[in-house]
Amino acid sequence: MVYSAWKNENLGFGTRQLHAGYDPSSHNGAKAVPIYQDAAFQLGDFDRGGRLFSFAEDGYSYGRYSNPTTEALERRLESLEGSRPAAVAMASGMAAAANTFLNIAVSGDELVASSTLYGGNLTLLKKILPQYGIRSAFVRDENDPSSYAAAITDRTKAIFVECLGNPNSNIVDFEPIAEVAHSAGIPLIVDNTFATPYLFRPFEHGADIVTYSATKYLSGHGILIGGAVVDRGGFDWLGSNRYPHLEKFYEENSEAIDGEKLRRFLFSLRLRMTYLCDLGSYMSPQTAFYILQGLETLSLRMERHVANAKRVAEFLDSHKNVLSVSYPSLESSPYRSLAEKYFPRGAGAIVSFRPVGGLDAAKRIIERCELFDFMANVGDAKSLIVHAATSTHFGQPAEALEAAGVAEDTIRLSIGIEDADDLIADLGQALE
Ligand SMILES: *Cc1c(COP(=O)(O)O)cnc(C)c1O
Repeated sequence: MVYSAWKNENLGFGTRQLHAGYDPSSHNGAKAVPIYQDAAFQLGDFDRGGRLFSFAEDGYSYGRYSNPTTEALERRLESLEGSRPAAVAMASGMAAAANTFLNIAVSGDELVASSTLYGGNLTLLKKILPQYGIRSAFVRDENDPSSYAAAITDRTKAIFVECLGNPNSNIVDFEPIAEVAHSAGIPLIVDNTFATPYLFRPFEHGADIVTYSATKYLSGHGILIGGAVVDRGGFDWLGSNRYPHLEKFYEENSEAIDGEKLRRFLFSLRLRMTYLCDLGSYMSPQTAFYILQGLETLSLRMERHVANAKRVAEFLDSHKNVLSVSYPSLESSPYRSLAEKYFPRGAGAIVSFRPVGGLDAAKRIIERCELFDFMANVGDAKSLIVHAATSTHFGQPAEALEAAGVAEDTIRLSIGIEDADDLIADLGQALE
């Protein structure tokens, strides 16, 4: 018996989500990834200690930036993302986004972003990062790639978009936007939380960095907060004079770390060595363990999420008490052709709608649901309903709400993996 599935990248997605990146024979034969509940690790001989702290040697020294359980999750995410990238697990999706932006931009720099973002990302870009001198330009028309080009200045350090917009699951045309980014010498960052690597792999469409909230579909059980950053590797940070802080990091570490690896994964190495080390938002091994349990069924869950979402969207679309429905694969959706191009396995499971009767009707529908639970989360295996303007987009000014496609009566559904008939029956009785 020679078990090698853990390192076989030719296996299918459904197989790799169970096996990739963890070799039981290096862990006393434990088939499930063990929880290494440790703050610090033996350094070994004197010289090895030095090599571990300078990242010249792979291994574990201190739990703020390295742990074998969390690393097993990182290896598995790398395999599922494809293209041999480097993953860094984070304590939350917001930690993933915040540390990514801080790693890429310094005071005086700018980012370019689409407007239909997750509320936490919007607040980070609009309110928090400007306090540190990092400003964001939101594109005029996120469906038009030339809008992104128009927003780029010589201080711009990255373009940031989400795989599926919040709350209406709109889709931007990733490939031409990646071209705009690359011709300006900057990377494209995609928050892929709503799709997961099963439905969409941004690296195959030009993205350079992918961020996740693992709180959502990656784990699926709604029992934890977690996140991750995945670096495709190979972006040229050193040739453009745009990233002096990354150039400095390269110079400081080029003696200790193999030059090819350092150049290829400059972004993710700096993320770990600077931001995890000094700001400290690594994922705990307990959390990584729970996410690994969820990942084992990712493809199965996503197939069911998508199948249910399609049925619910079609039901709502034909209901007399529904004014409009947003779901990309609907006949009526302006995003249908982009959904076919980028999401052949289905465009996620976030469905939003506006009821006939405005805010009052929205309130009554939410209060009458008996299966859909009133909660601000998404990506749980259990179905959830929320009112966007007073929760996920609370406190945004009117123009931001309009740009994000949030009306005062917009209801967002996160479609779970229950029996579709029960979901439809619940919405049906609430709409009556
Ligand atoms: C939830 C979410 C986040 C933030 O993730 P947390 O794990 O809650 O910090 C970021 N982006 C998207 C798209 C999300 O849905």
